[in-house]
Amino acid sequence: MHTDILIIGNGIAALSLVYHLGELGLDKKIIVLSECTTKNSNSYLAQGGVAVEFGGVENKNKHIDDTILCGVINNKSNTKIILSEAENSITRIIDSGLIFDNDKEGHYLRRLEGGHSSRRILYHSDTSGKHISDFLLQKVKSNKKITLLQNRFCFELVKQDDSCVGAKVYNTKKNMIETIFASKTILATGGAAALYKNTSNSDYSVGAGVTLAKDIGAKITNIEFIQFHPTGFRSGKKSILLSEALRGEGAIIVNKDGQKLEGVELLTRDKLSRILYAGIKQGEEYFLDCTMLSDEVLNQFEYVRNSLRNCKLDMKVTPIPIVPVAHYMCGGIATNVNGKTNINNLYAIGETADTGLHGANRLASNSLTEAITVPYLLTFELIKSDWNKIDNKKDYYYEIDTAKDYSLKIESLRELMWQKCGIVRKDNLLIELLDYIKSELRELGNDSMICYSKLRYISMLKTAKLIVAASIKRTENVGTFFKY
Ligand SMILES: Cc1cc2nc3c(=O)[nH]c(=O)nc-3n(C[C@H](O)[C@H](O)[C@H](O)COP(=O)(O)OP(=O)(O)OC[C@H]3O[C@@H](n4cnc5c(N)ncnc54)[C@H](O)[C@@H]3O)c2cc1C
Repeated sequence: MHTDILIIGNGIAALSLVYHLGELGLDKKIIVLSECTTKNSNSYLAQGGVAVEFGGVENKNKHIDDTILCGVINNKSNTKIILSEAENSITRIIDSGLIFDNDKEGHYLRRLEGGHSSRRILYHSDTSGKHISDFLLQKVKSNKKITLLQNRFCFELVKQDDSCVGAKVYNTKKNMIETIFASKTILATGGAAALYKNTSNSDYSVGAGVTLAKDIGAKITNIEFIQFHPTGFRSGKKSILLSEALRGEGAIIVNKDGQKLEGVELLTRDKLSRILYAGIKQGEEYFLDCTMLSDEVLNQFEYVRNSLRNCKLDMKVTPIPIVPVAHYMCGGIATNVNGKTNINNLYAIGETADTGLHGANRLASNSLTEAITVPYLLTFELIKSDWNKIDNKKDYYYEIDTAKDYSLKIESLRELMWQKCGIVRKDNLLIELLDYIKSELRELGNDSMICYSKLRYISMLKTAKLIVAASIKRTENVGTFFKY
């Protein structure tokens, strides 16, 4: 199979790219492939919204300042470009019909979240990600040049000379391998927080893109910076994220005696997560108390409210038990603001990429801003680039054994990542974990049979190895990273 553009992933970053390419008139054959439907991506789960300033340079500069204050080690020039271009990229989508919540006069309502010095977050109820994804998906589906493929897990990129020329994918429905050659390959595979037991992320966010890129020589940066969100509600294996915007509206955190935690309302996520983690280790329990919020306010959080009701909890009546959860991968595949990696014809966009916008700690709601804006900037790069047709008929042979199941191994890796490479890290535990990962990879390397579950487990081990190794290497505590 051959295509001009191969996009791996189908979240907001992938869909934005396809949308902007269509709007700017690039007439190319595009394949968008993914392991799952857009409904199962992290993008669909985003609640709070998109951080963006319209108009004045002064407001944009404040957004840039807040972002750098939170991220500390951000790439300042890339941060400035992305946050300044955000208005153009988001306005283009709004102009074609995307609606955010607004008042009776038609002015946008804007939310406040932790670390922001003003209300600048555009939103749609507490289902902003679903709303934007559905809108973009419907636009993308109407474009005849686009082929959407699902149930495909990409496990290897194909490199020829110094260039990426496509990808090998495991078709999970047919249990067979397909190779797709492409003039340009774009990774939009999302984050890695589902490498952890307690996570807000979709099961598919295990950092596969980082390993795919690393395996063909791409540079990976800041991968040790995993952001933990302080307010997750655990229900069985799944977590429901209690949006930070609730605290922006006045919800408070209380302990098991009902005492309020003072001065934590708008602390950045890393600081609050560490406070809660330390308390929980001492046997404390924490709750998010929303009982004082009016129905008018609570109705803005309909998704969370209904999800909790399904667990027999009413936010208006009972404080909700909370634990910190792994939430966001701040680093990833190093790119410039156009999504370009150090490998020819390989690009990365969205959470899998590290443009330097988030530094050591992402400012809330800047990820959708990036997932919409970098694809927009990449569009201009693609418009002016060369299009070589890849001529490669090479066949790859694999022995497939679908009887193997690595789900228990996957669960124990998630548990180990939580215990040994979590909110607070320690070198001796990290070294133990690295040894374990290496020995697992060695053992798997002795068996040539493959299956979906094995490819997934290998990919998870490799990304975990990068996070653990980078955590051992880092000596300075900054942003989300804390080691003692
Ligand atoms: C609960 C929650 C709430 C959030 N709220 C906000 C918010 O309010 N504002 C904000 O800015 N951000 C928020 N975020 C973060 C934001 O949603 C993500 O950073 C963003 O949606 C990532 O988009 P993406 O397109 O890069 O990746 P994703 O939406 O994660 O999509 C990646 C896709 O790639 C596919 N994929 C992965 N690996 C492979 C592979 N090897 N082969 C094939 N396909 C693959 C996956 O199946 C998935 O469909 C939130 C995240 C969560 C989890």
